[in-house]
Amino acid sequence: MTRCMVLNASYEYLNIEDSWFDSLMLVLEGKAIPIEHYPEVVRSQHCTFQLPAVVVMRYQVAVKKRTKLFQMPTKKAVFIRDNFECQYCGARLTMGAGTRDHVVPRALKGPDSLTNVVASCKPCNGRKANRTPEQAGMVLRSRPRPLTDEEKIRCVLKTCRSKERQTWLGCLKRLGITLWSN
Ligand SMILES: [Zn+2]
Repeated sequence: MTRCMVLNASYEYLNIEDSWFDSLMLVLEGKAIPIEHYPEVVRSQHCTFQLPAVVVMRYQVAVKKRTKLFQMPTKKAVFIRDNFECQYCGARLTMGAGTRDHVVPRALKGPDSLTNVVASCKPCNGRKANRTPEQAGMVLRSRPRPLTDEEKIRCVLKTCRSKERQTWLGCLKRLGITLWSN
């Protein structure tokens, strides 16, 4: 069954509700307002309910700031953004065997940030060593950048069906909502 994205009253991301029943109950109990539905309906004896795809809580739920999670160049965030490919040679990477590379090395005061860290295979990382790509004569395949909303969603969910992703992202775009904004 399809899952529901739950936004806090501030329209910040809160969590993903796995159970369609629980997300429907949030709406029926008046705790949340649906802002996007799936085409699917469920029927009780007397009523038909459209399944919510995105809901907004009516009250603010206290949460730890998640913003930091997606601003830090964690291996997971960097690898998802870089599509699990070495940004120097294009080799396919796994979380276990791949490494993070600071484009401007830490030794040269390069920041530990998403705009300075890329996914790299061990050989490329070793070859580059404490040099910039220019100094090492290596070319970056893409410029390191912050995560998109879609990539953030991929960071928090193990699996994300394309239908769910399309519905969620379509809704956020339509309403101009940015997840995990500062
Ligand atoms: Zn490589």
